[in-house]
Amino acid sequence: MGNMKKADLQKLGVQTQAIHAGESPDAITGASTPNLVMSSTFVVDEEVSFSAHNISETTPFVYTRWANPTTSQLESKLATLEEAEACVAFSSGMAASAAVMFSHLGHGDHIVASNTNYPGTAEFLRDTLPRMGVEVSPVDTSRIASIETAIRPNTRMLWIETPSNPLLRISDIAAAADLAHRHGALLAVDSTFATPIATRPLSLGADLVVHSLTKYIGGHGDAMGGAVAGRSDLIGRLRGEGVIHYGSVLSPFNAWLILRGMATLPLRMRAHEENASQVAEFLEAHPRVERVFYPGLSSHPQHELAQSQMRNFSGMLSFRVRDPRRLADKMMRELAVIHYAVSLGHQRSLVYLLETEDLIESSYRLSGDELGKYRAAAGEGLFRLSVGLEDAVDLCADLDAVL
Ligand SMILES: *Cc1c(COP(=O)(O)O)cnc(C)c1O
Repeated sequence: MGNMKKADLQKLGVQTQAIHAGESPDAITGASTPNLVMSSTFVVDEEVSFSAHNISETTPFVYTRWANPTTSQLESKLATLEEAEACVAFSSGMAASAAVMFSHLGHGDHIVASNTNYPGTAEFLRDTLPRMGVEVSPVDTSRIASIETAIRPNTRMLWIETPSNPLLRISDIAAAADLAHRHGALLAVDSTFATPIATRPLSLGADLVVHSLTKYIGGHGDAMGGAVAGRSDLIGRLRGEGVIHYGSVLSPFNAWLILRGMATLPLRMRAHEENASQVAEFLEAHPRVERVFYPGLSSHPQHELAQSQMRNFSGMLSFRVRDPRRLADKMMRELAVIHYAVSLGHQRSLVYLLETEDLIESSYRLSGDELGKYRAAAGEGLFRLSVGLEDAVDLCADLDAVL
C-alpha cells in the first residue's frame, strides 16, 4: 500500500481511500499507523532555499511551517478524496478561506460571493476585503442568474458555499464553474457541509474546494483545522502565502487527530445522512414546527439540484418554530442528549438558534428583496441542527420533549 501511486488510488473505493490514501507504514519501524511528528525543524543533508517561492513537491522537510510529515499525510489523503492534484492544510477553516481570498485577490479585483453563508466568511467578505481594495458583491448564488448579473470586467473569483449556512441553499457548482471560466475568474467552493463523500466540486469544474476540517472531516469535535484542494499551481501559491507567510499552520497534533477521524468519514457520513433524514421527517410532521430545511426532503426548494450534485445529503438541517427564543431557552435547560452549542459535523448532535435580526445586522446586512426572501424563509430565527451519530429515536425523543 505504501507504494500505491495516485492513479491507482483513484481506482479504489472511497472507504479504502479514506483509510489508506496518503498513509504508508513507517520505513524504519514498520509502524502501521501514521507517526505523530511534532518536530518543528528537520536535519537536512543538502542546502535548501529559505524562500517560500522555491518550495516544490520534492523539497525535503525543513521546517514545520512549510511542510510536516504528519500534516502531509492528511493533505495527501484529502487530495485523493477530492480528486485533486494538491491540497494544503491550515490552522482552521477561516484561515483556509482567508488565505484563498488574500492569495488570489488583490487591489482592484472583484469577487461575487454567497450572501448568506458561514458568518465568519460573510464578515470577512464585507469588512476585511473592501479595506484591502477588493470589491465584493454578495448575491444569492443559488440563483445562477444573480451571479451572472453581478459579474464585472474585474471579477476574479466566485465564492459559493453549498449547502449554505443556515438555509441549506444549494448552488449549482457546474453552472457556476462554467460562468466563472467564461469570465476568466476562479470558482472557490466552501464544501464543509457536503464533504467529499457527498460532492466533489473539482470534478464539477470548481478550481478550489475549501473545508473546515473542524467539522465532518475531523468529525469528533476535538481538533480545529482547515484545508484547500485544487490544482498544484493554485495550491502552491496558497502554501507559499497562506501558510508560510501568514503563518496559519496546522498543528501536527491536530493533523494526526483529523487523519484518524478521516478514516471513518465515509461510514460516518452514511450514518449522519440516515439519522438526519429520520429527524427531518420527524420535525416536518411535528405540529410545533413551521418549516424544515434539509436537502434530502422533497419539500426542499432545490431537492432536485441537491439530488444531482450530492451523493449524500449530509447531516445538517435547519428548522423554525413560533417564538424561537423561548424554545432556545428551554433547549438550554432541558435537552438531555443534544448539546445546545455552535459548530457541527461531530459525533454529538448540536443545536443552536441563529436569530434572524442578529445575523442580518452583524453578518449578512441584507436589504430589499434579499432581506424579504431571508425573512420569509427563516422567520425570527432558524435552529441549526447538526444531527450526530446517536440513535435517531433518542434524538427525536429529545426534541419532542422540548417542542
Ligand atoms: C465552521 C465553518 C467554517 C470555519 O471553519 P473553522 O474551522 O471554524 O475556522 C467555514 N465554513 C463553514 C461552512 C463552516 O461550517
